[in-house]
Amino acid sequence: MTSDELINLAFGSQQIYPLFELYIFQKDKYFLEYLQINYPSVYDFITSKQLTIKHLKDGIAAITINQTTGNVILFINYHKITYIRNICLGMETESFYETLACLIMHEQLHYMLKHFRVPFDGYNHKQLNIAQDMVIDNMIHRINPGWRNWQTVVDEINNTIDKLNKNTMFNKISTEENSKYDLLNFSDLDIYFYISELNLKNEQERIDKHEWNGDKVTEDSNGAEQEHCQNNDTENSQEKSKENDEKQDNSDKKDNNNEINKSVEDIFDKLASKARERIAQNTNRKIAKLNNNNSDLLDKVINKLQMVKNITFLIY
Ligand SMILES: [Zn+2]
Repeated sequence: MTSDELINLAFGSQQIYPLFELYIFQKDKYFLEYLQINYPSVYDFITSKQLTIKHLKDGIAAITINQTTGNVILFINYHKITYIRNICLGMETESFYETLACLIMHEQLHYMLKHFRVPFDGYNHKQLNIAQDMVIDNMIHRINPGWRNWQTVVDEINNTIDKLNKNTMFNKISTEENSKYDLLNFSDLDIYFYISELNLKNEQERIDKHEWNGDKVTEDSNGAEQEHCQNNDTENSQEKSKENDEKQDNSDKKDNNNEINKSVEDIFDKLASKARERIAQNTNRKIAKLNNNNSDLLDKVINKLQMVKNITFLIY
């Protein structure tokens, strides 16, 4: 089964499991090993001290970012993840692992691409959320072709350009790698411009909620205590976050902004260099091709980060 099919099944599931039956990925050492080999940057993300993982009540996943400290909360609906794990038990463990890795990568890319940077008041939130997801999901689609790439929306954009006779204003977008107007060369705000100017009304269900852009994220109060990954120094991490929060509250805003940018970039550099190190070590293994794709993805993310850097400084 493809990741897209599994995610669609999760959308439709209302299954609630007792706590002891829930699949908690942070406790699955085989999944963590899978990540280290196949998706090293995702492994680094979920074991980062600036990340906390919580149970989500509605939807499949969500992300919130403390724009003062740069700390991230990743929300996962463990009931839905358990549901698709149970479908994949036995024969399709790798499909399940790949789907879960890509779901987490989706949230990680929002963070790495700083999708929380926009001053949101002037934007249609629904359209901006779709634009951000389209950019990210196409990146993931290049690594895992079973992941969604929003082709129906891209087709709708291109058809509307023709229908409204706007070919002088818009270039048609492609989801094909190396094509002249490859979607990956567009930022979320570029895609937003297409969607809003062409007045698209797509209702495709999104995978996750973005708290910085109007989505309501509700923690599952019946979920287990917040989860942390192996190798994650939980107490230190919580204390540090608290210390950071307090320190930031009391200091000058300009200093805060410099610190945020620095801390976000430090993490990013660490993720990228660690990922590359592991990719280099694994070139002789069966998964070498996947890792190379992952490295390409990181290169693209680095380029995009450079592109948004100046804008971000202006906004902060
Ligand atoms: Zn998203």
